[in-house]
Formats: sequence, structure tokens, C-alpha cells
Amino acid sequence: MTMPLPFLDEFRHADHTAALLETLRERQGRPLKIMEVCGTHTMAISRHGIRQALPEDIELISGPGCPVCVTANADIDTFIEMALLPRLTAATFGDMLRVPGTRTGLAEARSRGADVRIVYSPLDALELARADRSRQVVFFGVGFETTAPTIAATIARARDEGIDNFLVYSAHKLVPPALEALCEVPGLAVDAFLCPGHVSAIIGPAAYEPIAARGLPCVISGFEPADILQSLIMLARQADAERAEVEVQYGRGVRPEGNPTALSLMDTVFTVADGEWRGLGKIPASTLAIGDEFAAHDAARRFAVDVSYSREPEGCICGEILTGLKNPRQCGRFRRSCTPDHPVGPCMVSSEGTCAAYFQYES
Ligand code: SF4
Repeated sequence: MTMPLPFLDEFRHADHTAALLETLRERQGRPLKIMEVCGTHTMAISRHGIRQALPEDIELISGPGCPVCVTANADIDTFIEMALLPRLTAATFGDMLRVPGTRTGLAEARSRGADVRIVYSPLDALELARADRSRQVVFFGVGFETTAPTIAATIARARDEGIDNFLVYSAHKLVPPALEALCEVPGLAVDAFLCPGHVSAIIGPAAYEPIAARGLPCVISGFEPADILQSLIMLARQADAERAEVEVQYGRGVRPEGNPTALSLMDTVFTVADGEWRGLGKIPASTLAIGDEFAAHDAARRFAVDVSYSREPEGCICGEILTGLKNPRQCGRFRRSCTPDHPVGPCMVSSEGTCAAYFQYES
């Protein structure tokens, strides 16, 4: 592992960006297929035209880094069924409201009388529970290692304050097991991973060592265009030198030890479990379930709902897009029957979704 790189203070300067691009264009090496794992990177790459600006021998493909998108339809259907239960308030971040479930969506459930609230933080949901103790308030816990610590802290606070009508339906996911699963996807053949800066600020660079040990270079990147270009240079240099290490470009945000406080909170409240991902299927030790000590706040244990009917939207290839096997233009519904106003799958809804990014910036 190489750590740390110098602070890059010119990361917004146009001349610096142009020079980095030129370095990539002058490179002489084998063609590389690099996966940007994170939805925030996907949006930045699309918005700034980075995919088109790169030389032909560097292909960027999008991965499973949009938390709403990788949430399995069964989890979405479960939360919608819970929202329809009497005397229950369903609280969620805004993106999820418009994600279609198998039979209905949260927005439609709300129009049928379900009490569905958009919140900006799990603490807002805790406040709803505190304000009306006669209702069960269930928060939809979706996200990676970046959001999980805040939700863990909220569950711990609810337990400490005795607010037993605050519950969480946890569909949190862990990034490194998904990268391991991607290494096994037939026909994908990724050469290197552009790793997420914000997740890595929590888990630390060492979490990617097993991926590098498989011979795949990993660089943890910031989110400005110059960050991404510099990270691509670092990945290309590793590949060209036949090295596979974990390097940190985003030195201004990532420490070698990650964030021990956040990790400890997650460890206290959650327990690691096998879990279902859209596109990647069941991945061992890849999700965060609520631990026994906090079982009173676990909506999955409290409410039994039947979602055996759950299935993927017809004609939607979100699963293949999330595994990097296809891009949105290869979906027959893209821009035709699927648009941000009428989304068919989650990748068109989410502000970090690949289909939404292509629709906005690459169509
Ligand atoms: S364009 Fe729509 S239907 Fe096609 S993969 Fe994306 S979200 Fe699914």
C-alpha cells in the first residue's frame, strides 16, 4: 500500500485538468477497462465529459456505487408493504419516493393514504417518533459505509432515550464485498478500480487490500475532475508497471486508519450479514443488519410482510448496468419509455444513478 500522496490543492484549476488529460493521452500502454465504483464519480464523470475526453484505450465503466440502485426490489417492496400498515409512518430520503416497486411505489402508496415522509436525516425520523409515540416510525436505512454510522448513532440514541416506536429497516451495504463479487462476474474483466473517496474516509485504504491482492490496482479518488484524472493516471501507471496496490489520491479526505469512531459505532449497532444486491445477487457478509442488542428498533423483526411476488421491472437492465456489463444506451427503454419523469428502474431515479447521469449529460 502506498500512502499518502501530497495534498492536491490545484484540483479545480482548468490548466491542471488539461495537463492531466494530456498525460493520459500521451500514455502508451495496453487498453484498460477501469470501473468507477461510486455513483458520485459516475455523475462527475458524466457531468464533466470525462468519459468522452479520455483516449480510446481507457474505457470507464460504471459500477454498483449508487445505494438506491443496488437496493434489491424485495427490500423496496418490503418497505412499501410496511408503509401501508396501519398506524405506521414510513420515513425515507427523497430519492426512494420515486423508485418503482413491483406492484406500486412509495409515492403511489402515499396517494392511497400511507403516511410516507421525506426526511433529510435519520434524526428527523427520530423526531417524528418522539413527537407522536402512538405511531411506529420506520426509517428506510439505505446507503454504504458513509451513511451507516449516522443511522447507527440514531438507533443508539433512540435506545438510550427509550423511544421504542423508532425503527429502522436496514438495507445498508458494504463496498469491499461488492468489489470481490465483481471480480467473479463472468465476462466483466475489469483491469482496475477507481474507489470512492467518501466511503474510504470511513473504512480506510486497507479495506481494498484483498482486491489488490487479486492483481487489480485500486486508487481512492476525490470527486473533482482533476482528482479523477489524477487517479486514472495513477491506475494506468500501476497497470503499465504490472503493479497492483491500494493508492490514495484523495489524501485530503482519507486517513490510513479510516474513521475509527464511525467504524466503532457501526460495529456496536449493526451485525454483518449476507445480503441481496440488485444485479449482483446474494453476496456473503455484504450488508448490515441490526444487532440483537438493538432488536427493539429493527423493523425487519417487528413487521412480517410477504413480498414473494417481488421481481425486477420488465425490460429494465439496471442489474447489468450495476455490474458494468452494459451501459444505459444498451437498454431498449432508455429515453423511450424510461425517463427521469417516468422512471422504470432505480438507475433512472437516483441522483447517483447511471441511467440518470447518461440521460442528463451523455445522450
Ligand atoms: S433506462 Fe430505465 S429501464 Fe433501462 S436500465 Fe435504466 S432504469 Fe432500467
